[in-house]
Amino acid sequence: MTAKKSGGCLCQGVRFEIDGALNPILACHCSQCAKTSGNFATMTSIAAANVTMLSDETLRWFQSSEIASRGFCSRCGSNLFWKQTSSPDIYITAGTIDKPVGVRIIEHIYVGSKSDYYDITDGLPQKDEW
Ligand SMILES: [Zn+2]
Ligand SMILES: [Zn+2]
Repeated sequence: MTAKKSGGCLCQGVRFEIDGALNPILACHCSQCAKTSGNFATMTSIAAANVTMLSDETLRWFQSSEIASRGFCSRCGSNLFWKQTSSPDIYITAGTIDKPVGVRIIEHIYVGSKSDYYDITDGLPQKDEW
């Protein structure tokens, strides 16, 4: 049995509960994650049905591409979710989950799009795309 985890945005306008095992974290270096996070984004994932919103009064969705939307807090600006329209899964930014998260980064994706101000030095696998 997995204990429930919780998480949310900086101002607590968005709070959620996760019931079930999170997938390992992807570090995404695409230009969209750079814009919305101010840096590369680290996201874990789980079936959206396993995530219960305890508060979503300030949650807004921005359709960031033809296939996906990004959920963020309209009050404090926290970058929270990435959801592909056709997928049952939801991606959750790892830093918004209350510690301990319990899963770790396993690989870097969209490394071909990353900016020039940092290097990836942790030795984990790097993919030019997903
Ligand atoms: Zn907030
Ligand atoms: Zn990305």
